[in-house]
Amino acid sequence: MTAGPQSTAPRTGVPPLIITEDNHFWFEAAKAGRLEIQRCAACAALRHPPGPACPQCRCLDWDTIQASGRCTLHSYTTIYHPKDSAFDYPLAVGLVDLEEGTRLVADIIDVPPTELAIGMPLEITFGEHAHGAILPQLRRPQGDSR
Ligand SMILES: [Zn+2]
Repeated sequence: MTAGPQSTAPRTGVPPLIITEDNHFWFEAAKAGRLEIQRCAACAALRHPPGPACPQCRCLDWDTIQASGRCTLHSYTTIYHPKDSAFDYPLAVGLVDLEEGTRLVADIIDVPPTELAIGMPLEITFGEHAHGAILPQLRRPQGDSR
């Protein structure tokens, strides 16, 4: 049997997510369908990926805000080869500017690679990934006229 885009074959050989004390909150929020951004408790700077200290003021205290999910495509690539059993191909991966100001890398779903364009509006949704992890994905905005 050949693993194709619609394959339901088990995704084996995929390295597990690296969950740490610093990023645990982010993965837990994603499981619940929320995209959270870490915010410095001292200077309110937002940062991603999560880390222990603010890169602006070195403060170790932080909280989070919930991202709106609205974003624009900053850059992208389409991967055809080599294939990893964790993904479907061709695999479009986007780097987006969240409207809150941080960036995120995620798989792009429901947009053919030939229709991708820098600056196009996208939004965050969530989907199941290898090992049952729920992670952000990018898609065209749904339900509004932007
Ligand atoms: Zn700070």
